[in-house]
Amino acid sequence: MTTPIVEMDGDEMTRILWKMIKDELILPFVDLKTEYFDLGLPERDKTDDKITIEAAEATKKYGVAVKCATITPNAQRMTEYNLHQMWKSPNGTIRSILDGTVFRTPITLDSIHPAVRNWKKPITIARHAYGDVYKSVEIRAEEEGVAKLVFEGKNGQKEEVVIHEFKGPGVLQGMHNTDKSIRSFAHSCFKFAIDTKQDLWFSTKDTISKKYDARFREIFDEVFEEYKSDFERLGLEYFYTLIDDAVARVIRSNGGFIWACKNYDGDVMSDMVSTAFGSLAMMTSVLVSPDGKYEYEAAHGTVTRHYYKHLKGEETSTNPMATIFAWSGALRKRGELDGLPELVNFGNQLEDACFDTLNAGIVTKDLVNLMEGITPTAVNSEQFLKAIRENLEKRLA
Ligand code: NAP
Ligand code: MG
Repeated sequence: MTTPIVEMDGDEMTRILWKMIKDELILPFVDLKTEYFDLGLPERDKTDDKITIEAAEATKKYGVAVKCATITPNAQRMTEYNLHQMWKSPNGTIRSILDGTVFRTPITLDSIHPAVRNWKKPITIARHAYGDVYKSVEIRAEEEGVAKLVFEGKNGQKEEVVIHEFKGPGVLQGMHNTDKSIRSFAHSCFKFAIDTKQDLWFSTKDTISKKYDARFREIFDEVFEEYKSDFERLGLEYFYTLIDDAVARVIRSNGGFIWACKNYDGDVMSDMVSTAFGSLAMMTSVLVSPDGKYEYEAAHGTVTRHYYKHLKGEETSTNPMATIFAWSGALRKRGELDGLPELVNFGNQLEDACFDTLNAGIVTKDLVNLMEGITPTAVNSEQFLKAIRENLEKRLA
């Protein structure tokens, strides 16, 4: 390796797994170069969270990052870690600096059947993470009156429409989005589709929302022009449909595509899709910026309950799959960007070694009840990683 990967360490059980993964599965095989940032909560507190900003800036510079799960502090964590401020979610900070979109993809196995029988391949959800109802303002009307939507432009545009003439009490809401944010979302989606060679679906309700949702559709159409030739070359499709039609088609599909959703749709649909695929421990996540920077991580958190057991000296069977796939994803991407086929190959072999292990029935506890067709043996995290290492050594020999 010549260009480093930005490495963001984290908290609790995933921090323990992080070191084990590096020691067992990465360092013995790869001439690893990273720029290390400790995003563990004590270090964020010590640096007034500057470390998070530095890690995001480094990702902008080097283009590829891998992140361990981190604690987002709440009141209880303030006491537990004796914090001097309730620091913001690192993921939120990094996302806003990179202006990226999060893509969540389940790791699928033949022996774990999704709740939807015909889903054969993973479905990746891309959620637009800005605006709409999450940045809305609301009023509770307590009496008869008129509600209006008013826009006063800096250069003279003035528009006013009546929302509703209330005859009695009611509720109202104002939402917005920006062309800039929608455009960034579209770029990230088309880039990721090309990257992973999958079709891209996008859905809104533009038959009802003729200006708001229609603007999303227009911007996607415009941005698609820049990617059209790549889509054609790779035989990929960009497919727009109404959200309700999309839901019906997704359920009937075999999977294997990316579904881009507006903020609220993505919030709801990502939970539905991830639950239907089985386990949170098998869900990967990658943040892609509109200019093509990538940050890989697991979708789950720091697995606090297991960490407390670990601290008491008890054995845990925490599933490292999503965190391993964050590493393999980052190494493969670094290899692709820098023209290092061996590194790309290592990323693929590492994932295949994980599949060899699971397909042989060696699994962590969370997967035992999900498997069909084989009789699994539950092992602890260390044993699981050792088994993957053996399979990896066989593959690389
Ligand atoms: P969590 O860490 O995802 O864990 C919730 C439960 O899901 C666990 O208790 C465990 O169930 C199961 N689980 C999740 N990942 C697993 C794995 N790899 N192997 C086995 N089981 C797994 O969520 P949380 O407990 O709500 O949050 C804990 C901390 O993580 C919080 O401080 C939160 O701020 C943080 N968090 C960080 C991120 C991130 O950095 N991206 C995301 C979400 C949450 P059982 O206990 O039943 O075994
Ligand atoms: Mg949700």
